[in-house]
Amino acid sequence: MSSSSFGPESLQRAPRGEGAGHIDYRLARRHLVNEFKRGRLSRRDICDAHPELVRAANNMGQATSEVCPICEDDDLVLVSFVFGPRLPAHGRCVGSREELAKLASRSGERVCYVVEVCPGCSWNHLVRTFALELTSR
Ligand SMILES: [Zn+2]
Repeated sequence: MSSSSFGPESLQRAPRGEGAGHIDYRLARRHLVNEFKRGRLSRRDICDAHPELVRAANNMGQATSEVCPICEDDDLVLVSFVFGPRLPAHGRCVGSREELAKLASRSGERVCYVVEVCPGCSWNHLVRTFALELTSR
């Protein structure tokens, strides 16, 4: 890894989708997990969560009851980051729906990235991205 800076590209393993194109993150995830189970990928290849991401998962993550597909030891944690104008370049880690709603109520284009992280083995994968819509004016 050449860069230790944290940004959207730290969260997104798949190439960026074009415009309205839809990326099926679940499909990409299943592919990675299968490759790992077949021994074509090692933990080193796929359990590479940025330290910042692991910290966010531990501090502000949303626990799930889904077990990590790689180590099958820990439950996955969902972390949401919002990127956009007047937000830090590394994004704002959002810990609650209220905070997300507050960010959505401001003008400007903002995108939310939801990433699943395993605090145990550092597996991480993008679950979804969505634009924060301006909910009220
Ligand atoms: Zn794990």
